[in-house]
Amino acid sequence: MNDLFSRHIADIVPVIVALRRDLHAHPELAFAEHRTGTKVREYLSALPNVKLLPPLLGTDVVAILNPDRPGRCVAIRADMDALPIVEETDPAKVPYRSTVSGVMHACGHDAHTAMLVGTAMVLSRVADQMPGKVKFIFQPGEEDVGGAEGLCAKGAMANPKVDGIFALHAWPNQPVGMVSLRRGPAMAASCSFYITVHGQGSHGAYPQRGVDPILAAAHIVTALQTIVARNVAPIDAAVVTVGALSGGVASNVIPSECQMKGTIRYLRPEVGEHVQRRVREIAEHTAVALGAAAEVRLEAGCPPTINHERMCDLIERTAREVLGADWFLGDEPPSLGVEDFCYYGEHAPAAMFRLGVRPFGQESYPPLHNPRFDFNDEATGRGMQMFCELARRFLAT
Ligand SMILES: [Zn+2]
Ligand SMILES: [Zn+2]
Repeated sequence: MNDLFSRHIADIVPVIVALRRDLHAHPELAFAEHRTGTKVREYLSALPNVKLLPPLLGTDVVAILNPDRPGRCVAIRADMDALPIVEETDPAKVPYRSTVSGVMHACGHDAHTAMLVGTAMVLSRVADQMPGKVKFIFQPGEEDVGGAEGLCAKGAMANPKVDGIFALHAWPNQPVGMVSLRRGPAMAASCSFYITVHGQGSHGAYPQRGVDPILAAAHIVTALQTIVARNVAPIDAAVVTVGALSGGVASNVIPSECQMKGTIRYLRPEVGEHVQRRVREIAEHTAVALGAAAEVRLEAGCPPTINHERMCDLIERTAREVLGADWFLGDEPPSLGVEDFCYYGEHAPAAMFRLGVRPFGQESYPPLHNPRFDFNDEATGRGMQMFCELARRFLAT
């Protein structure tokens, strides 16, 4: 291929694959990405035409290509954190598996980070042909704690002001190197709920003298599942999951209380409000019906990630023209996973695409957050190519 980037990408991919594997071997949890951030800084500080900015949250890295060039500024974001999971990949196939017990890159953030470093390396070489500025945002804490929200609050999308932002996510159930996209709401909004069921403790042999909070909790768990089945329209998407339930210590004692917590996912705000109201009503009234009392606390999480129409057009056109029409899978269904990329979209047009990792001919691939997930390095060059082309085309229009 005879374009601006291909030769440089081919040159740099082996370095980036090695970096990705190094990051995979040394995963760090949210807001503890010290080694990862330092590595990224090391790579970027060696690049001509790239200026590193002081950290905003501690472990983040924000850098700008062509900081003094007039024109628009496009941003590309990568997340750097790993998950509290014990890795179960085959050491014969993944010799670079996690060296940190109980911490693992099971969401592909090692690859997102490495590919964005690679993109900065390529763009640095052709900086004089980039008609504007490119901001590289390496964010901490995507899993569960909202590093994006913090970075945005500290001005990551300002100075210079970002005019549009892209990101990608590794996508297991999609052929390697293929790009897909969900227009509009692409990833879910979330809300956590915490329920304490108060009963009255008693001897396990004399239940009539107490109020059993475990029985009430069991009824609540079951009744919560009627929300999606009976209160949400079948064509709307929502999830109610109870992820933790605890109460009691002895086999012959009815405890005085019991706790549960869970998550609500949805794509449309109206659906979310309705589900939250029903969670509260069902928990409180079911408990009362059984003589107990439920205390319900709802905690808002991320809003939905909504892909901007114009940015989606650019991703689709770029994938079709640069990778080839066959490499673009079209508009895929939304996911009820949560992505804190949503916060960048509050400051500039934003869109995130999916990059396949499943080898051709293979029917399945370990899902994200699975202890056997590992990014497929064969997708590395295509991820970098998309990032480079999107940046150039965004600035040129
Ligand atoms: Zn994740
Ligand atoms: Zn992720």
